[in-house]
Amino acid sequence: MTIARATVRPFAVSFRRPLVTGAGTVARRAGFIVEIEDGQGRVGRGEASPAHWLGEEDVATTARVLDAAPTLVGQDSGDLAAIVDAWRARSPAAACALDTAGVDLAARAAGVSVARWLCDVDASPWSRVHRVPDRVPVAALLATDGLQPLEQEVRDLVSEGYRTLKLKVGGRTLAEDVARVAVVRTVGGPEMRIRLDANRAWALDEARAALVALAPFGPDFIEEPLRDSAPDAWGRVRGLGIALARDESIASEADYQRVACGGDVLVVKAARLGGPTATLALGRRARADGCRVVVTDAIETTTGCALATQLAALLHHPDEAVGLGGARLLDESSAHAVPAHPWSEVGSPGLGDRDRGSLAS
Ligand SMILES: [Mg+2]
Repeated sequence: MTIARATVRPFAVSFRRPLVTGAGTVARRAGFIVEIEDGQGRVGRGEASPAHWLGEEDVATTARVLDAAPTLVGQDSGDLAAIVDAWRARSPAAACALDTAGVDLAARAAGVSVARWLCDVDASPWSRVHRVPDRVPVAALLATDGLQPLEQEVRDLVSEGYRTLKLKVGGRTLAEDVARVAVVRTVGGPEMRIRLDANRAWALDEARAALVALAPFGPDFIEEPLRDSAPDAWGRVRGLGIALARDESIASEADYQRVACGGDVLVVKAARLGGPTATLALGRRARADGCRVVVTDAIETTTGCALATQLAALLHHPDEAVGLGGARLLDESSAHAVPAHPWSEVGSPGLGDRDRGSLAS
């Protein structure tokens, strides 16, 4: 399909409340929505949301790469891989937006979901037997400050039907983190899956102390406990009672190869890895290596959350929750905000119709 139109729309959305993380406090999301349209009026859409607070590209870098969007007009939308690769080298978020728009457009033309389409174009035996679910459970990111508001937030989420909750740690004192995790376990109950994320907050000794203190609350895993991403350092925080998860220390297949996850959980984000194609390739490789793979957004709007859901439908075990931080953090009055719900519909065609309309030009 020849691309007849390519547009880039910047957006900025405030958070409902600031999110305290081990990598700093975040209060606002800025990024871009990329659209490509074929000659029949079908539109594929992708989101470019760089997680600048994690040391990834800043929004200005993403914008500079997206300046090339007008050159997409006249190109074949099924032949964007070389451009996506070139963009990925400078801006994984921009590459993600273009790759997403391409697969969204192709899936819409085929009348199937992005997940189904990615399965159908894959020649491996896995893709022939994979069943794409209708919906995926969602992990809620807890963001309230103070123990009493946190207690109420967890109580509300339990009654809404969430079975996986995620809590940032490392941005407060260890005593405060322990008290917060204790609230989540007590109010969430023994069956609640609790994910922790330290966003590389700790030196080795701090991480060891934190893991020992947090292990009794039975977290499912902890993401990025260490400032140091080297395998040797990670080896010294294994076996302390909490499974470890790699997230921002892996931005490419080369990183994955370097750190040798060895039984750790792997959290994958399309915005950092440079699009759904690269994310699927890395996720499938990690699964084949025996890693547990967890897909999350990068605190994104409707488009990024829809893509994360499609990728989770391809890479997850059925009871694994997709992390949709954007769903409960973005200002709900914004047209970009994702409705918060314990289940995310895979939907079709493309990324599904829920991301349509609110961004009408
Ligand atoms: Mg993380």
